Parts: sequence; C-alpha cells; structure tokens
Amino acid sequence: MTIGIVGGGQLGRMMALAGYPLGLDFLFLDRSTDTPAAQVAPTLVGEFTDRKLLRELARRSEVITFDWENVSIESLRALGRSASIAPPLAALAMSQDRVAEKKLFGKLDIPTTHYAAVDSQASLVRALRDIGLPGVLKTRRLGYDGKGQAVVRSIEDAWLAFERLRGSPLIYEEFVPFDYEVSIIGARNRHGEIVVYPLNRNLHRDGILRLTRAPWGAPTLQRRAATHLRRILEHFRYEGVLNIEFFVRGGRLLANETAPRVHNSGHWTIEGAATSQFENHLRAILGLPLGATTARGHAAMINLIGRMPSRNAFIGDDELHWHDYGKTEREGRKLGHITLLERTASRRDARANRLLRRIDSASAR
Ligand code: AMP
Repeated sequence: MTIGIVGGGQLGRMMALAGYPLGLDFLFLDRSTDTPAAQVAPTLVGEFTDRKLLRELARRSEVITFDWENVSIESLRALGRSASIAPPLAALAMSQDRVAEKKLFGKLDIPTTHYAAVDSQASLVRALRDIGLPGVLKTRRLGYDGKGQAVVRSIEDAWLAFERLRGSPLIYEEFVPFDYEVSIIGARNRHGEIVVYPLNRNLHRDGILRLTRAPWGAPTLQRRAATHLRRILEHFRYEGVLNIEFFVRGGRLLANETAPRVHNSGHWTIEGAATSQFENHLRAILGLPLGATTARGHAAMINLIGRMPSRNAFIGDDELHWHDYGKTEREGRKLGHITLLERTASRRDARANRLLRRIDSASAR
C-alpha cells in the first residue's frame, strides 16, 4: 500500500521512515530529487501544481497527504473524487490564511491575539489605531519560520514594514510579551478517535524553532490546550496530525497558529513517546487505530540549523538520538535535530543547556 506525499522535505522523510515498519510504501512529489525524502523513497519531479503529476500520484497511492501547508489547494481539489486526501482541504485552507485561522479560533472560543486584516494604507492606519503599538505586521499567506513578518514599535516602523511587505494581503497583530511558547499535537482518524501528546515548550531563535522540551507544564495547561485542539479536530472531522502553537502569558494560553501536519515541535516523539507523531499521522490518514502518546521520559529536541556539527562528537552520549536530513548546509536551514531523553525534567533541562552550548561552539568553528 502506497502513501502519496506532496512535498519531500524532512517531514516527509520522517513519515516514510515511520511507515516502513508498518509495511507501507511511499511516493513523493517535489520540484527535484535533491530532497531529504528522495533519499529514502521514489519522487515524481515537477511543480506542486502539475495536474498530470498529481493525477499520477493519486492513481498510484491509497491516500495523498502533504508535508508542508503551502501546497496548492486548487490543484488538489481538481483531483476530485479520484483521490483520497487527508488532512481535509478545508483545514489546509484555514491554515494558509492567518485571518481565516484567527476567525476560526474566535468561532471555536479559543483565545487568540487581537488582530486586523491590512490590505491598504487606510486599513493600516485603522489597525494601528484600534490595536496600538507595539505590534507585528505579517503576510497572511506563505509565512514560515518568522519570514514575512516585522515587529512594529513605532508608526515609522509600521510604514517601513508595510512598504516591504505590501503586495501581499497582511495582518496586523498586537505584540504579545509572552512568558514562553508552547505547542500541542494530536491526531484524529475518520472513526472519531483522538489522541493528544504531552505539551511542548518551544524556544525560537531568529524566528526558527531551536529547542523543544516535553512533557511540559501543569496538568491544567495541558488540559486547556488539549480542549482547544480537540475542538479544531472535531470541527473539521479531521484525519491526520494537527499542531497548535500558543503564547503563554500569566498562565493563559493565546493561540498563535496551526499547522495541519506533523510538526517540528513533535520530533521528540520519535524516541520519546510510545508512538511517534509520524506513525500516528499515517495511522490516522489510513483510518487505523491510533497509538498511545505517552512520554517515555523527559525529552529535549534541539534543531541543527545552518551548519551540521560533527556527529561523532555527540553520538557516544547515552540516549542521544541523531537525525541528519541529508541536506546541504545553508544559513538558517534546518539540517537535522538531536533528541535526548532523561529520567527527570531537571536533568533534561540541564543537559539540553549544555548541549546547546556545545552545538553552538561546534557550529561556530
Ligand atoms: P509565526 O510565524 O506566527 O509562528 O511567528 C514566528 C515567531 O515570531 C513566533 O513563534 C513568536 O516567537 C514570534 N511572534 C509571532 N507573532 C507574535 C506576536 N503577535 N507577539 C509576539 N511575538 C510574536
């Protein structure tokens, strides 16, 4: 049985690696074979909007899924009933537009940041008046890893950011002086079964996820985040894995964004949970029973960004799991990650800090 995946990045690659033990095969669609996924599975090469290739992918696959959210909905929709696609395209459409996402949070009673859509000078003036400073001006679509956004501290900043980002529909949000950021990942299958992972605490650097620690936080925070997640999963009669990122301020959760796919903050589940997010995504889109999400200990995941440190200096450590995505080095690029597991949260935190320092000095050389 073959799973078709649009996008051959590291997320697709990790899905394939999780699916082989289940007896699944994989076929990717990407713009080239110079991708992390092409090293582990065959790839159809062409544009993501290429109808002929998408039809071929559909013909050869049991179900089509995607490993990033900026795939063309129109092209997938054009496949009609000939293809089974999961997660649902309505959830994908919502996550592609920050305004639609915020509206859904509002509808489902999930607290989020104050915001206003900005598509003209007049609407920027109104947004600044209604929401005030500081704020963040972002593109509504195609933003990732902090790209396509600017923090706005003054009226001048706002106009400079507007000039830089104009041409795309924008959103202006209040700046949230958060205490920290968390995310929650869960899966639903077509039978309505839902599983939720322990909460992740996330640290970003230059807009890119640097460190995730899980499980994190008090049971009340976990329960509230899980309730919000369930509402979204049920709203879409969702099939697959979904992630929500939140700001935490004074113990309150404010939803920032969703991703209708496996997520970087869930990489620790490969070694750190009873069933990984990648396996649960596959189970969910195939309508199989979902696996337990229990943590096996206290995990920290560190992204390896821009430069790959030398593997041999690290892999001798106990319960240190090395992941190299097989990419060429480039500044700001996610090249791999490390997951470590400890018996207690304090040992995990101390070890993660030491490792971060070691990686920084190894990458600086
Ligand atoms: P995003 O692309 O929305 O996930 O933004 C990337 C990162 O920028 C977030 O993880 C936050 O660290 C920061 N950020 C985004 N929006 C805001 C905001 N409204 N207030 C404060 N920080 C933000």
